[in-house]
Amino acid sequence: MPPKSPRSFTENTLIRQLQQRYCSRTPRLRKGIGDDAAVVEPVKGGEYWLVTTDMLLENVDFRRQWITPHLLGRKSISVNLSDLAAMGARPRFYTVSLAIPDATTLAWIHRFYDGLADASQGAVLIGGDLSRSGDGIAVSIAAFGESLNRKVVYRSGGRAGDALYVTGVLGKSAAGLALLRNGNRIPGARSRREAVSAHLDPEARCETGLWLAQSGLANCMIDLSDGLSMDLPRICNASGVGAIIRAADLPVFAQSASWGGDPVDLALHGGEDYELLFSVPESKTELFQLSYPAKFPAVTRIGELTPETGKIWLIGQDMKRRRLPEAGFDHFKQT
Ligand SMILES: [Mg+2]
Repeated sequence: MPPKSPRSFTENTLIRQLQQRYCSRTPRLRKGIGDDAAVVEPVKGGEYWLVTTDMLLENVDFRRQWITPHLLGRKSISVNLSDLAAMGARPRFYTVSLAIPDATTLAWIHRFYDGLADASQGAVLIGGDLSRSGDGIAVSIAAFGESLNRKVVYRSGGRAGDALYVTGVLGKSAAGLALLRNGNRIPGARSRREAVSAHLDPEARCETGLWLAQSGLANCMIDLSDGLSMDLPRICNASGVGAIIRAADLPVFAQSASWGGDPVDLALHGGEDYELLFSVPESKTELFQLSYPAKFPAVTRIGELTPETGKIWLIGQDMKRRRLPEAGFDHFKQT
Protein backbone atom coordinates (compact mmCIF):
# COMPACT_ATOMS: atom_id res chain seq x y z
CA MET A 1 0.00 0.00 0.00
CA PRO A 2 1.27 3.56 -0.73
CA PRO A 3 2.41 5.78 2.16
CA LYS A 4 -0.39 7.71 3.80
CA SER A 5 -0.50 11.46 3.32
CA PRO A 6 -3.13 13.88 4.56
CA ARG A 7 -5.31 15.01 1.68
CA SER A 8 -7.37 18.17 1.83
CA PHE A 9 -9.53 17.47 -1.21
CA THR A 10 -11.73 14.71 -2.53
CA GLU A 11 -11.88 13.26 -6.01
CA ASN A 12 -15.16 15.13 -6.61
CA THR A 13 -13.74 18.54 -5.65
CA LEU A 14 -10.70 18.07 -7.89
CA ILE A 15 -12.89 17.05 -10.84
CA ARG A 16 -15.06 20.15 -10.29
CA GLN A 17 -11.98 22.40 -10.27
CA LEU A 18 -10.64 20.85 -13.47
CA GLN A 19 -14.07 21.10 -15.05
CA GLN A 20 -14.29 24.83 -14.27
CA ARG A 21 -10.77 25.52 -15.48
CA TYR A 22 -10.93 23.49 -18.68
CA CYS A 23 -14.57 23.71 -19.70
CA SER A 24 -13.60 23.98 -23.36
CA ARG A 25 -16.34 25.02 -25.70
CA THR A 26 -15.58 23.98 -29.21
CA PRO A 27 -18.07 23.14 -31.92
CA ARG A 28 -16.98 19.49 -32.17
CA LEU A 29 -17.32 18.78 -28.44
CA ARG A 30 -20.77 17.72 -27.22
CA LYS A 31 -19.72 16.88 -23.66
CA GLY A 32 -16.37 17.38 -21.91
CA ILE A 33 -15.36 16.70 -18.30
CA GLY A 34 -18.17 15.65 -15.96
CA ASP A 35 -19.85 12.58 -17.41
CA ASP A 36 -18.91 8.91 -17.77
CA ALA A 37 -17.25 9.62 -21.12
CA ALA A 38 -16.55 12.64 -23.30
CA VAL A 39 -18.73 12.99 -26.39
CA VAL A 40 -17.27 14.37 -29.60
CA GLU A 41 -18.77 14.99 -33.00
CA PRO A 42 -15.88 14.47 -35.47
CA VAL A 43 -17.99 15.41 -38.47
CA LYS A 44 -20.70 18.02 -38.18
CA GLY A 45 -24.06 16.31 -38.22
CA GLY A 46 -22.41 12.85 -38.18
CA GLU A 47 -22.20 10.13 -35.55
CA TYR A 48 -20.98 10.98 -32.04
CA TRP A 49 -17.90 9.26 -30.65
CA LEU A 50 -17.30 8.68 -26.96
CA VAL A 51 -13.94 8.59 -25.21
CA THR A 52 -13.20 7.38 -21.72
CA THR A 53 -10.11 6.39 -19.78
CA ASP A 54 -9.43 4.49 -16.56
CA MET A 55 -6.35 3.47 -14.68
CA LEU A 56 -5.67 0.41 -12.53
CA LEU A 57 -2.69 0.46 -10.20
CA GLU A 58 -1.19 -2.46 -8.33
CA ASN A 59 -1.75 -2.24 -4.55
CA VAL A 60 -4.24 0.60 -5.03
CA ASP A 61 -6.85 -0.95 -7.35
CA PHE A 62 -5.74 -4.57 -7.26
CA ARG A 63 -3.39 -6.99 -5.55
CA ARG A 64 -1.37 -9.27 -7.75
CA GLN A 65 -1.81 -12.22 -5.39
CA TRP A 66 -5.62 -12.01 -5.78
CA ILE A 67 -5.95 -11.75 -9.52
CA THR A 68 -4.55 -13.70 -12.46
CA PRO A 69 -3.10 -11.72 -15.40
CA HIS A 70 -6.01 -12.92 -17.55
CA LEU A 71 -8.59 -11.62 -15.06
CA LEU A 72 -6.67 -8.36 -14.63
CA GLY A 73 -6.89 -7.88 -18.40
CA ARG A 74 -10.61 -8.62 -18.34
CA LYS A 75 -11.27 -6.23 -15.47
CA SER A 76 -9.12 -3.46 -16.97
CA ILE A 77 -11.13 -3.34 -20.18
CA SER A 78 -14.50 -3.97 -18.47
CA VAL A 79 -14.26 -0.95 -16.18
CA ASN A 80 -13.62 1.23 -19.23
CA LEU A 81 -16.41 -0.31 -21.28
CA SER A 82 -18.75 0.23 -18.34
CA ASP A 83 -18.39 3.99 -18.83
CA LEU A 84 -19.32 3.61 -22.50
CA ALA A 85 -22.28 1.44 -21.46
CA ALA A 86 -23.43 4.18 -19.08
CA MET A 87 -23.90 6.51 -22.03
CA GLY A 88 -25.30 3.95 -24.43
CA ALA A 89 -22.36 3.75 -26.82
CA ARG A 90 -21.13 0.70 -28.74
CA PRO A 91 -17.50 -0.17 -27.88
CA ARG A 92 -15.28 0.11 -30.99
CA PHE A 93 -11.60 0.66 -30.17
CA TYR A 94 -9.21 0.80 -27.23
CA THR A 95 -5.59 1.59 -26.45
CA VAL A 96 -3.61 0.11 -23.57
CA SER A 97 -0.68 1.62 -21.72
CA LEU A 98 1.07 -0.87 -19.48
CA ALA A 99 3.95 -0.29 -17.08
CA ILE A 100 5.57 -3.42 -15.68
CA PRO A 101 8.27 -4.17 -13.11
CA ASP A 102 11.43 -5.92 -14.36
CA ALA A 103 10.41 -9.34 -13.01
CA THR A 104 7.24 -9.57 -15.14
CA THR A 105 7.38 -12.52 -17.53
CA LEU A 106 6.42 -12.51 -21.17
CA ALA A 107 3.81 -15.19 -20.41
CA TRP A 108 2.20 -12.91 -17.82
CA ILE A 109 2.01 -10.09 -20.35
CA HIS A 110 0.43 -12.28 -23.04
CA ARG A 111 -2.14 -13.65 -20.61
CA PHE A 112 -3.00 -10.07 -19.62
CA TYR A 113 -3.58 -9.05 -23.25
CA ASP A 114 -5.61 -12.24 -23.87
CA GLY A 115 -7.85 -11.20 -20.98
CA LEU A 116 -8.32 -7.75 -22.48
CA ALA A 117 -9.34 -9.21 -25.83
CA ASP A 118 -11.69 -11.77 -24.19
CA ALA A 119 -13.74 -9.09 -22.44
CA SER A 120 -13.54 -6.40 -25.10
CA GLN A 121 -17.16 -6.89 -26.30
CA GLY A 122 -16.24 -6.28 -29.91
CA ALA A 123 -13.82 -3.40 -29.34
CA VAL A 124 -10.47 -3.69 -31.12
CA LEU A 125 -7.01 -2.94 -29.70
CA ILE A 126 -5.47 -0.19 -31.82
CA GLY A 127 -2.36 0.88 -29.94
CA GLY A 128 -0.88 1.92 -26.64
CA ASP A 129 2.39 2.16 -24.81
CA LEU A 130 4.73 -0.12 -22.87
CA SER A 131 6.99 1.04 -20.10
CA ARG A 132 9.09 -0.12 -17.16
CA SER A 133 7.75 0.49 -13.72
CA GLY A 134 9.81 0.95 -10.59
CA ASP A 135 6.93 0.04 -8.34
CA GLY A 136 4.13 -2.28 -9.36
CA ILE A 137 2.01 -2.79 -12.44
CA ALA A 138 0.08 0.15 -13.88
CA VAL A 139 -2.59 -0.20 -16.55
CA SER A 140 -4.19 2.72 -18.32
CA ILE A 141 -6.80 2.19 -21.02
CA ALA A 142 -8.61 4.58 -23.29
CA ALA A 143 -11.79 3.22 -24.85
CA PHE A 144 -13.66 4.66 -27.81
CA GLY A 145 -17.32 4.03 -28.45
CA GLU A 146 -19.72 5.00 -31.19
CA SER A 147 -23.20 6.28 -30.57
CA LEU A 148 -25.91 4.98 -32.86
CA ASN A 149 -28.17 7.66 -34.34
CA ARG A 150 -26.55 10.20 -31.97
CA LYS A 151 -28.54 8.75 -29.10
CA VAL A 152 -26.46 9.32 -25.98
CA VAL A 153 -27.75 9.24 -22.40
CA TYR A 154 -26.09 11.84 -20.21
CA ARG A 155 -25.99 12.16 -16.42
CA SER A 156 -27.80 15.45 -16.77
CA GLY A 157 -31.10 14.33 -18.33
CA GLY A 158 -32.91 13.29 -15.13
CA ARG A 159 -36.21 15.02 -14.29
CA ALA A 160 -38.07 15.27 -10.98
CA GLY A 161 -40.66 12.50 -10.87
CA ASP A 162 -38.59 10.02 -12.91
CA ALA A 163 -38.44 6.47 -11.59
CA LEU A 164 -34.94 5.26 -10.63
CA TYR A 165 -33.78 1.81 -11.68
CA VAL A 166 -30.64 -0.28 -11.30
CA THR A 167 -29.52 -3.37 -13.16
CA GLY A 168 -28.34 -6.53 -11.42
CA VAL A 169 -27.38 -6.91 -7.77
CA LEU A 170 -25.67 -4.26 -5.63
CA GLY A 171 -22.97 -4.84 -3.03
CA LYS A 172 -21.79 -8.18 -4.42
CA SER A 173 -18.38 -6.90 -5.53
CA ALA A 174 -17.72 -5.24 -2.15
CA ALA A 175 -18.76 -8.47 -0.42
CA GLY A 176 -16.21 -10.31 -2.59
CA LEU A 177 -13.51 -7.75 -1.80
CA ALA A 178 -14.16 -8.27 1.93
CA LEU A 179 -13.62 -12.01 1.45
CA LEU A 180 -10.34 -11.43 -0.42
CA ARG A 181 -9.14 -9.01 2.26
CA ASN A 182 -9.88 -11.63 4.91
CA GLY A 183 -7.66 -14.08 3.10
CA ASN A 184 -10.47 -16.11 1.57
CA ARG A 185 -8.67 -16.82 -1.65
CA ILE A 186 -10.47 -20.00 -2.61
CA PRO A 187 -13.93 -19.59 -1.18
CA GLY A 188 -15.87 -22.81 -0.88
CA ALA A 189 -19.54 -21.92 -1.06
CA ARG A 190 -21.11 -20.90 -4.36
CA SER A 191 -22.22 -17.51 -3.03
CA ARG A 192 -18.65 -16.77 -1.96
CA ARG A 193 -17.30 -17.70 -5.39
CA GLU A 194 -19.96 -15.52 -6.98
CA ALA A 195 -18.99 -12.53 -4.83
CA VAL A 196 -15.27 -12.88 -5.50
CA SER A 197 -15.97 -13.25 -9.20
CA ALA A 198 -18.16 -10.11 -9.16
CA HIS A 199 -15.18 -8.25 -7.75
CA LEU A 200 -12.44 -9.70 -9.95
CA ASP A 201 -14.40 -10.15 -13.17
CA PRO A 202 -17.23 -7.60 -13.47
CA GLU A 203 -19.16 -7.50 -16.71
CA ALA A 204 -19.73 -4.15 -18.42
CA ARG A 205 -23.44 -3.76 -19.23
CA CYS A 206 -22.80 -2.64 -22.81
CA GLU A 207 -25.78 -4.32 -24.50
CA THR A 208 -28.15 -3.09 -21.80
CA GLY A 209 -26.81 0.47 -21.95
CA LEU A 210 -27.07 0.48 -25.72
CA TRP A 211 -30.66 -0.78 -25.58
CA LEU A 212 -31.60 1.85 -22.98
CA ALA A 213 -30.17 4.62 -25.15
CA GLN A 214 -31.75 3.35 -28.36
CA SER A 215 -35.16 2.85 -26.71
CA GLY A 216 -35.22 6.52 -25.74
CA LEU A 217 -36.74 5.50 -22.40
CA ALA A 218 -33.82 6.47 -20.11
CA ASN A 219 -33.51 10.16 -19.22
CA CYS A 220 -30.17 9.92 -17.41
CA MET A 221 -27.67 7.17 -16.67
CA ILE A 222 -24.40 6.42 -14.83
CA ASP A 223 -22.49 3.25 -14.06
CA LEU A 224 -22.08 2.32 -10.40
CA SER A 225 -18.31 2.33 -9.99
CA ASP A 226 -17.94 4.06 -6.62
CA GLY A 227 -21.16 2.95 -4.91
CA LEU A 228 -24.77 4.14 -5.03
CA SER A 229 -24.15 6.74 -2.30
CA MET A 230 -21.42 8.36 -4.45
CA ASP A 231 -22.86 7.84 -7.93
CA LEU A 232 -26.50 8.78 -7.24
CA PRO A 233 -25.50 12.32 -6.12
CA ARG A 234 -23.51 12.61 -9.36
CA ILE A 235 -26.60 12.17 -11.55
CA CYS A 236 -28.69 14.29 -9.17
CA ASN A 237 -26.18 17.15 -9.26
CA ALA A 238 -25.80 16.94 -13.04
CA SER A 239 -29.58 16.86 -13.51
CA GLY A 240 -30.38 19.50 -10.86
CA VAL A 241 -32.68 17.17 -8.94
CA GLY A 242 -32.78 15.21 -5.67
CA ALA A 243 -33.74 11.60 -5.04
CA ILE A 244 -35.46 9.30 -2.64
CA ILE A 245 -34.60 5.62 -2.49
CA ARG A 246 -35.94 2.77 -0.37
CA ALA A 247 -33.58 0.34 1.39
CA ALA A 248 -36.25 -2.38 1.22
CA ASP A 249 -36.31 -2.16 -2.58
CA LEU A 250 -32.56 -2.40 -3.16
CA PRO A 251 -31.47 -5.58 -5.00
CA VAL A 252 -28.98 -6.53 -2.27
CA PHE A 253 -26.65 -9.51 -2.16
CA ALA A 254 -28.26 -11.10 0.90
CA GLN A 255 -25.75 -13.96 1.13
CA SER A 256 -23.03 -11.55 2.30
CA ALA A 257 -24.71 -11.53 5.74
CA SER A 258 -23.45 -15.10 6.18
CA TRP A 259 -19.86 -13.82 6.28
CA GLY A 260 -20.52 -10.76 8.38
CA GLY A 261 -21.47 -8.26 5.68
CA ASP A 262 -24.40 -5.84 5.95
CA PRO A 263 -26.13 -6.35 2.57
CA VAL A 264 -27.89 -2.95 2.57
CA ASP A 265 -24.77 -1.11 3.63
CA LEU A 266 -22.74 -2.86 0.91
CA ALA A 267 -25.43 -2.06 -1.68
CA LEU A 268 -25.38 1.63 -0.72
CA HIS A 269 -21.68 2.21 -0.18
CA GLY A 270 -19.77 -0.71 -1.72
CA GLY A 271 -18.10 0.21 -5.00
CA GLU A 272 -17.24 -1.60 -8.22
CA ASP A 273 -20.60 -3.18 -9.00
CA TYR A 274 -20.47 -1.73 -12.54
CA GLU A 275 -24.24 -1.98 -12.79
CA LEU A 276 -26.24 0.79 -14.47
CA LEU A 277 -28.29 3.37 -12.56
CA PHE A 278 -30.80 5.22 -14.73
CA SER A 279 -34.08 7.09 -14.65
CA VAL A 280 -37.23 6.58 -16.69
CA PRO A 281 -40.11 9.09 -16.86
CA GLU A 282 -42.98 7.86 -14.68
CA SER A 283 -45.32 7.93 -17.69
CA LYS A 284 -43.08 5.45 -19.52
CA THR A 285 -42.35 2.98 -16.70
CA GLU A 286 -45.03 0.56 -17.82
CA LEU A 287 -43.77 0.57 -21.39
CA PHE A 288 -40.22 0.21 -20.08
CA GLN A 289 -41.01 -2.80 -17.92
CA LEU A 290 -42.94 -4.47 -20.73
CA SER A 291 -40.32 -3.90 -23.39
CA TYR A 292 -37.11 -4.46 -21.37
CA PRO A 293 -35.55 -7.63 -22.87
CA ALA A 294 -35.65 -10.68 -20.58
CA LYS A 295 -32.13 -11.70 -21.68
CA PHE A 296 -30.62 -8.64 -19.98
CA PRO A 297 -29.80 -8.46 -16.26
CA ALA A 298 -32.87 -7.92 -14.08
CA VAL A 299 -33.80 -4.31 -13.35
CA THR A 300 -35.17 -3.09 -10.04
CA ARG A 301 -36.96 0.16 -9.26
CA ILE A 302 -35.29 1.63 -6.17
CA GLY A 303 -36.88 5.08 -5.89
CA GLU A 304 -37.59 8.35 -7.67
CA LEU A 305 -35.95 11.64 -8.58
CA THR A 306 -37.36 14.61 -6.68
CA PRO A 307 -37.38 18.42 -7.18
CA GLU A 308 -35.19 19.03 -4.07
CA THR A 309 -31.87 19.74 -5.82
CA GLY A 310 -28.98 17.73 -4.40
CA LYS A 311 -30.94 16.23 -1.51
CA ILE A 312 -30.80 12.45 -1.37
CA TRP A 313 -33.11 10.66 1.04
CA LEU A 314 -33.07 7.04 2.09
CA ILE A 315 -36.10 5.33 3.56
CA GLY A 316 -34.47 2.81 5.89
CA GLN A 317 -35.66 -0.67 6.72
CA ASP A 318 -37.19 0.91 9.85
CA MET A 319 -39.27 3.05 7.41
CA LYS A 320 -37.63 6.22 8.76
CA ARG A 321 -36.43 8.81 6.26
CA ARG A 322 -32.86 10.07 6.57
CA ARG A 323 -30.31 11.86 4.38
CA LEU A 324 -28.03 9.46 2.56
CA PRO A 325 -24.39 10.20 3.43
CA GLU A 326 -21.79 10.04 0.64
CA ALA A 327 -19.85 7.08 1.93
CA GLY A 328 -18.89 5.31 -1.27
CA PHE A 329 -15.43 5.04 -2.74
CA ASP A 330 -13.30 8.17 -3.06
CA HIS A 331 -10.07 7.47 -4.91
CA PHE A 332 -8.12 9.92 -2.75
CA LYS A 333 -9.40 8.71 0.59
CA GLN A 334 -6.74 6.90 2.59
CA THR A 335 -7.95 3.68 4.13
MG1 LIG B 1 -18.56 5.90 -14.66
